[in-house]
Amino acid sequence: MYDYLIVGAGLYGATCARQLTDAGKKVLVIDKRDHIAGNIYTEKVEDINVHKYGAHIFHTNDKGVWEYVQRFAEFNRFTNSPVANYKGELYSMPFNMYTFNKMWDVVTPEEAAAKIDEQRKEIKGTPQNLEEQAISLVGRDIYEKLIKGYTEKQWGRDCKDLPAFIIKRLPVRLTFDNNYFNALYQGIPIGGYTKMVEHMLEGIEVRLGVDYLEYKDTLDKEAEKIIYTGPIDAYFNFKLGNLEYRSVRFETEVLNQPNFQGNAAVNYTDRETPWTRIIEHKWFEFGKDEDGNDLPKTVISREYSSEWKPGDEPYYPVNDEKNSSLYLKYKALADKESNVVFGGRLGEYKYYDMDKVIRVALDKAEELK
Ligand code: UDP
Repeated sequence: MYDYLIVGAGLYGATCARQLTDAGKKVLVIDKRDHIAGNIYTEKVEDINVHKYGAHIFHTNDKGVWEYVQRFAEFNRFTNSPVANYKGELYSMPFNMYTFNKMWDVVTPEEAAAKIDEQRKEIKGTPQNLEEQAISLVGRDIYEKLIKGYTEKQWGRDCKDLPAFIIKRLPVRLTFDNNYFNALYQGIPIGGYTKMVEHMLEGIEVRLGVDYLEYKDTLDKEAEKIIYTGPIDAYFNFKLGNLEYRSVRFETEVLNQPNFQGNAAVNYTDRETPWTRIIEHKWFEFGKDEDGNDLPKTVISREYSSEWKPGDEPYYPVNDEKNSSLYLKYKALADKESNVVFGGRLGEYKYYDMDKVIRVALDKAEELK
């Protein structure tokens, strides 16, 4: 008999597993996929760690979380600075003086601020949706070229129907600073995320290729308590209806050339290009192999966003009003399941970053010990 059955070997599951094991609990981790690490899984192709389920850049302001992950991996000094490609025009991301200079030919922060102020006037009162929020942050020109098309491709919804908080993830700065994140600590685990999660799960029993919901009755008998990190609506057999998710599909290619786009991420912000971004994985590790040699080839992934349908991997919860209120109904059911903890991006239907997931998992494990 296990103390805890942990469903899902992603970051939430792995953090709980580590903490509870270290506290002397007997833990079993299962995952329906044939690998650990959930969506941060990386796989070596041509000596390059390929982020199989999309780019993950670790960044945090939480010193406790930063120290915690150092136990399982050494991090490199990667700083995320995506480039936006709008119909062949290149802009620096996030929105900063380089972006404003290219967009408006302004030179000083004062000139940039004046331009933004003039354009944000069209929004009166508190922004009610992503479009209003974006215009009030950076003005209409930037909204039209760098936000609207990308966001509508990524979410498959009009910017007027999306919550304002999504765009607040992006910093706006009147300095020449292309660092995408406002984070004290940032980097990529050397050797890949899979290796990091392997270290987190060291000495813990893991069964892969096991679908919890299919064998729920038998599996439930093996443990006192369950930590479930799958989709909350699937747990309840979708009885209140489906929560919506966005899914992502990748077309990955090995190219016989050393440098395709000169950057880890290039966002295609127009509406017509069918992919949202192209990731060139080698630049997460500065184009070098583990011994510091230059790599002759490159691996790129074109990322396409789509509405989730059964059989796809769910990636992003769609936190619009409709889904958020349906989630609260599922949450009420979940609260009644006294032996089950629901956690993580899918279990809590929340757009969590990696560091936030680790933080909530650490806190939850502390409670459960
Ligand atoms: N976004 C945008 N243009 C960009 C990049 C991001 O408008 O070039 C907006 C878009 O609405 C997106 C949000 O910012 O949904 C968050 O983007 P981020 O890249 O942080 O999302 P993630 O990496 O989690 O997919």
